[in-house]
Amino acid sequence: MSELSDDELDRYARHIVLPQFGGTGQKALKAAKVALIGAGGIGAGALPSLVGAGVGQITIVDDDKVELSNLQRQPLYTSADIGKPKADLAKAHAEARNPYLAIATEKRRVTHDNVEEILSGHNLVIDGTDNFMTRLAVSDACVTLGIPLIAAAAAQFQGQLMLATGQPCYRCFVGDAFDADDCDTCAELGVLGALTGTMGHFAALMAIRHLAGIGPDSAGKLHLFDGLKASWREIKIAPDPACRACGI
Ligand SMILES: [Zn+2]
Repeated sequence: MSELSDDELDRYARHIVLPQFGGTGQKALKAAKVALIGAGGIGAGALPSLVGAGVGQITIVDDDKVELSNLQRQPLYTSADIGKPKADLAKAHAEARNPYLAIATEKRRVTHDNVEEILSGHNLVIDGTDNFMTRLAVSDACVTLGIPLIAAAAAQFQGQLMLATGQPCYRCFVGDAFDADDCDTCAELGVLGALTGTMGHFAALMAIRHLAGIGPDSAGKLHLFDGLKASWREIKIAPDPACRACGI
């Protein structure tokens, strides 16, 4: 596993001093390769925490350009960035913040045809996209490739997140009803900007826990946050024996 330089020991000192984390956890983050699908509300919340934490290799997958209505919730971008590719801006942010990381971009729309090629070779995937066709394609590819997935979403005042490491998978939770590409909801329903940031940071925290091997295993649990009530709850997802992706 990669050693840490003196500068890195300084940079990550507040991690390394944590008894559960230490140098071992920090080296595990440095050795990790994470794919972040979507550099929108969730992704723009997650990326700064992943970069600050020292996740060694990050692939930012996004084919969108910044729009004025994104600035309400996507803190990586400024008014001057409107019309520019999000993946390039997110990469520039990451590289300016932490020079020890290898940041790659994939400016392609994720489809059933390219998803396995894009995700292959990663240790963990964080999906923050907002349509079910993409989310299920990512989930199915993660099951096939054996890559743990953190699926995070936010709409209106409700946030949800699930870590899937096999069975149950994300499809066990949502079923097959949403395979059609007609479920883009954020634009129609609205979303509280601070909620996407909350779920993005939570996704980064769950990624760091998983990669560093700290805390109890929370795979297969759905974490729900109600932004109006300001309360969290969790539900255990049962594996679906008839699941098209992970079914036994
Ligand atoms: Zn499943």
